[in-house]
Amino acid sequence: MKNFALIGAAGYIAPRHMKAIRETGNNLVAALDKNDSVGIIDSHFPDADFFTEFERFDRHVDKLRRQGDGKQIDYVAICSPNYLHDSHMRFALRAGADAICEKPLVLNPWNIDGLQEIERETGRRVNTILQLRLHPAIIALKAKVAASPADKKFDVDLTYITSRGHWYLQSWKGDDKKSGGISTNIGVHFYDMLHFVFGKLQDNKVHYNSPTKAAGYLEYEKARVRWFLSVDVNDIPADVRAAGQRTYRAITADGESIEFSDGFTDLHTVSYREILAGRGFGLEENRVAIETVAHIRSAAISPLTGDYHPFVA
Ligand code: NAD
Repeated sequence: MKNFALIGAAGYIAPRHMKAIRETGNNLVAALDKNDSVGIIDSHFPDADFFTEFERFDRHVDKLRRQGDGKQIDYVAICSPNYLHDSHMRFALRAGADAICEKPLVLNPWNIDGLQEIERETGRRVNTILQLRLHPAIIALKAKVAASPADKKFDVDLTYITSRGHWYLQSWKGDDKKSGGISTNIGVHFYDMLHFVFGKLQDNKVHYNSPTKAAGYLEYEKARVRWFLSVDVNDIPADVRAAGQRTYRAITADGESIEFSDGFTDLHTVSYREILAGRGFGLEENRVAIETVAHIRSAAISPLTGDYHPFVA
């Protein structure tokens, strides 16, 4: 049984990590959040210690490390806001634990280089949650693409509209410096999945970029991709909205729909199983997606010529 600590325990995604720790037969021994609305811990690990101050958490983790004898923290799960991930991963590794970090791993590619250095210094490892890589529909698509003729390029349309209320732009998620903006915070799942399935990134154009929506064109070895992301409910197609839906997800490859909505929420436990078996996705596996989002944040807007997503026109 491995000992876990968790940073960002009061947030939206933390319970999925608590569930994954429990479902893989392990123990959460310490948790940190600057917000103390963490009653959810009782549903999973009522004996866990909880801290609202980093320094007290650090002291406790260090005490457990010095005690040894099975008490030390083996893994630190990181569910804090995106811009804090690299600092929290450094803490984990220096504390003698491996890290399991939420997406996006970091905001900029050079942060990965710094973390690789600390991995070498400490001999500990960073694992990341890239859960779409573990989704059966995406694994099947990857196999189909791998079996296609060498010169085949798929035409892919990716549309992801996930409505958020007014709170979104008031929170860290709406602050570019903290979340990286919509393409980094939400799109990174998809850019990683596209690279995983379709190979090397060859072109990256941005057609639209605002706090609530973004669109562009990505080309990979095996695909041309027109993408559109939004958190604005008004972008949901009228017929879907009329049916009361606030989310609209569609991915097509050569016009054929890829159904990946189901099973999205259970993939944290699958990710943990893989990590615990030594098959986690490491720092380098995140590089292309992080390069993609860093470019999207800084790119000039391209004119609407050639391939562009129909929702931006
Ligand atoms: P959230 O705002 O609900 O939770 C973040 C938590 O971190 C909050 O409780 C906050 O108080 C805490 N926090 C902030 N600063 C802190 C600090 N310095 N020390 C300790 N705790 C601190 O956000 P969320 O939606 O849970 O997202 C957390 C992370 O998970 C983000 O990186 C996000 O991108 C990622 N995420 C992943 C998925 C997925 O499907 N894999 C889904 C949602 C979010």
